Amino acid sequence: MNNTAIAHIYGSSYIHTGKHAVGIYLDRSSGDAILIDSGADEQAAREIDEALEEEGYRIAAVLHTHGHRSSCGGDAYLLAHDPDLRIYATATSAARAHPPQSLPHLSGGAHSARASQAPLRVTDILPEGDAQVTVGDVNLRVIALPGHAPGMVGFQTPDDVLYCGDALFGERVLRRQSLLLYASIEEARATFRKLSQMAPKAYVLYHGGVLREISALINPHLERLNSLTKRFEDLISTQPITLERLVQQTMQEHALDDSLEHYGLAMQIVQSHVAELLRMDRISLKVEQGALHFASR
Ligand SMILES: [Zn+2]
Repeated sequence: MNNTAIAHIYGSSYIHTGKHAVGIYLDRSSGDAILIDSGADEQAAREIDEALEEEGYRIAAVLHTHGHRSSCGGDAYLLAHDPDLRIYATATSAARAHPPQSLPHLSGGAHSARASQAPLRVTDILPEGDAQVTVGDVNLRVIALPGHAPGMVGFQTPDDVLYCGDALFGERVLRRQSLLLYASIEEARATFRKLSQMAPKAYVLYHGGVLREISALINPHLERLNSLTKRFEDLISTQPITLERLVQQTMQEHALDDSLEHYGLAMQIVQSHVAELLRMDRISLKVEQGALHFASR
């Protein structure tokens, strides 16, 4: 492969060298290429499509790890070029497909125009648990990796390369972002354990690229999640507080913009940590003056 848009990992497993590590698996006998996620936008998808076409491959299928916009943004372009494209996703990912910036607790008109997107057009539903999927003549393992998003899965190629979606973030994201998006802290912890017990030839992080080893990344993730859960517990222990106020406090402490996108992200992050505190029975719910409050146990 001469094109610099695509980098080799092992055997027939590659990634796009763009902003996100879109996975590419080449079936050399059929000339089919399988993508793992489709890039954030049309530009990424076009670059991958053109590079593969130059090498004599045709994109036959996209396997989605989850339904966030940055993972599915190339679908529209790829579908417009090939209406026969197969698109695989778990039922949960397909049903919940939305940009991470959208407001999950609001419905309809409250979404900003930018945050709206068509639902994923899925042709094949993937199992949510560990399983095998056959795409053309290629058998891949589906690995359940929920936490960042419900129903998220990774894919292990016949070359033993594990594409992990957003189960973990790379060092650069950890350096730049003080908040990490996990929809379920409990599931994220279990997924970290699962990933550290697997020993593929390489891990691919959609936001982080190719890694031989991930153990050094797991502790910083756990520390971030634990300290944020602790921060919310401290805030709640000072006085009963509403969800809205926790979101506001988080946006201020992490210097997020007053945008619907950042509000939506902060909301999801607060909800997941508060759910964790409720699950651990560390806080309780009560209604004061018609508003739901979180209070210390
Ligand atoms: Zn994501």
